[in-house]
Amino acid sequence: MLHVAPKGRKHLSADALFRLVYRGFDHLPDYRPPDADITLTDALMSAFARFSLKAPSLLAFDKERTAGNLPTIYGIERVPCDPHMRALLAPVSPASLRPVFQSVVTQLQRGHALTPMAFFDDHYLLALDGTGYFASKTMHCASCLRKVHRNGAITYSHQLLGAAILHPDVRAVIPLRPESMVHQDGPAKNAWERHAAKRFIVTLRQDYPHLQFIVTEDSLSANAPHIETLRTQGLRYILGVKEGDHAYLFRQVQAAAQAGRVTSYERYDRAAGRVHRFRLINDVPLNASNTAVRVNCIASWEVGDEKEQHCSWVTDLPVHRRTVYRLMRGGRARWKIENETFNTLKNQGYRVAHNYGHGQQHLSVGLATVMMLAFLVDQTQQRCGALLQAVWAKLGSKRLRWERLRAWFYTSALASMRQLLEALFYGVQKPAPIFAGDST
Ligand SMILES: [Zn+2]
Repeated sequence: MLHVAPKGRKHLSADALFRLVYRGFDHLPDYRPPDADITLTDALMSAFARFSLKAPSLLAFDKERTAGNLPTIYGIERVPCDPHMRALLAPVSPASLRPVFQSVVTQLQRGHALTPMAFFDDHYLLALDGTGYFASKTMHCASCLRKVHRNGAITYSHQLLGAAILHPDVRAVIPLRPESMVHQDGPAKNAWERHAAKRFIVTLRQDYPHLQFIVTEDSLSANAPHIETLRTQGLRYILGVKEGDHAYLFRQVQAAAQAGRVTSYERYDRAAGRVHRFRLINDVPLNASNTAVRVNCIASWEVGDEKEQHCSWVTDLPVHRRTVYRLMRGGRARWKIENETFNTLKNQGYRVAHNYGHGQQHLSVGLATVMMLAFLVDQTQQRCGALLQAVWAKLGSKRLRWERLRAWFYTSALASMRQLLEALFYGVQKPAPIFAGDST
């Protein structure tokens, strides 16, 4: 057991990352006159602090805004009240936050914290998936997605295309800036996802030109136009395929198997008591109308004592016996964007599905983007912050961690997040309050 608080990498500490985020916000153009009472930086940093501290709601955060260590730990000079914060953030374009995400990822790279997450041939595995976080029959804004029901009623919603760098053997995920699907993308889910994915991929290449990615997605994305977008932007892929959606492809593979043109391979996992069976074939047409789009195909069966799991993928990476197990794990790691990213955001304090006041203009999407930034900083901490890891291991339950952290944050004068984490690490007891005056 550790007795001295671990030091960790200084420029990846919570305090260094908060300063980095603050500087990033400070570089965004303020659309208001220079003598505005509260700066845009303070408003953005206040929203970031709410998600970073996992305050139960913006209202709860608002009630305590004058207490605690927002100036010392988050650098916020003046915290706007809740309605003022919403008004300040509404005009901010979520895309303008790109450089802030970039600066955190660059810091991870500089600290060599990203390198161990390389998955295959110096490529990072990048999972993309859509998720909804808001739906209403009455409240809406200009960018809300609209679903018109048969009776004429409309459901308004917001959905994001989330993206995260992940690795089958690494717990932390590194979320990138999500792309929001907007009303202007078209009338149906397929069009929303397709357009958002295109925007995301183009900006991904601009933001991280030196990183190489293998994109992993579900079977909706295994279509010729999307594969063409990935190819032209220099991205590799492992995409799920289903017999129901890709009947032609499955028939081609079946015919090839009957003609003895597929490779079969088995691998025993003795420790887990399972066997993995694979059928692989390179260079088959994706579908009848796009025979020029050729893909490599993996069919995998995992057989355990009680159940059998079957999945298939297409990829542009050559598949053979030596690589197929690793590629299969890459395809299956996609579940982490559901489990480790979206579920964390929904259930562990960020409360993505909670309505933070829908607001006008970009407020809803902007808050969701700031929340993802706070999640990126948390995940960086989880991956690199030795002190945070030690504190979390000591406190156990996730709820307890954030409750204890907030209790210290709001009731003690602290100089830094490191000081707060040290107090939690050493289990410092708070002294009884001393009052001037006679209480007898
Ligand atoms: Zn909206």
